[in-house]
Amino acid sequence: MLQASEIFYSIQGEGLWTGTPAVFVRLAGCNLACDFCDTDYSTKFFATVDEVVAKVRELGGDCPMVVLTGGEPLAQTESVALIAALRRDGRRVHIESNGSIFTELPDDVWLCVSPKERVDARMAERANEAKFIVDRRVPEEHLPLFAAKPTILLQPEGNEKHNVAIALAYVKSHPGRFRLSLQTHKFIGAP
Ligand code: SF4
Repeated sequence: MLQASEIFYSIQGEGLWTGTPAVFVRLAGCNLACDFCDTDYSTKFFATVDEVVAKVRELGGDCPMVVLTGGEPLAQTESVALIAALRRDGRRVHIESNGSIFTELPDDVWLCVSPKERVDARMAERANEAKFIVDRRVPEEHLPLFAAKPTILLQPEGNEKHNVAIALAYVKSHPGRFRLSLQTHKFIGAP
């Protein structure tokens, strides 16, 4: 049984897939406890894998993109079965992870790693997308693990002005590799 926080249909507001419609499945729980975390990932309901797949279908219809997020979606061992079931249902699965829990993933799963206090090197290598949260500073300590990535996204925590200024200055002083990622869904009041 999966522990879940919410399932909703919206757009991906941040990162490389910004603007793309997607069904979001927020699984409950996280293995880390970041001091800036403002996500409510508490358990709101329990659901089987089949029930989650059915809810995704009900909300998103034929929408190809499903984002598993959290909390840390890979903290629940049943997330592997959920990924498989969603793929069987014809979905392209995206995972928003802190990258600290090594998990074998099929090649067609899009993995976005947003490193926090620790990262598993294999997940950093597997990542299709690297998104660093700028919370009063750029977390440069994670750069060596992502050295092979051609693009690193810098996302100001909470869209806060001072974090935007830090990220913007960094992007401008490192052109070609770093890009600014804003939480655009918050501009339009989307969840
Ligand atoms: S890893 Fe993400 S969800 Fe978990 S505590 Fe940190 S910011 Fe929150």
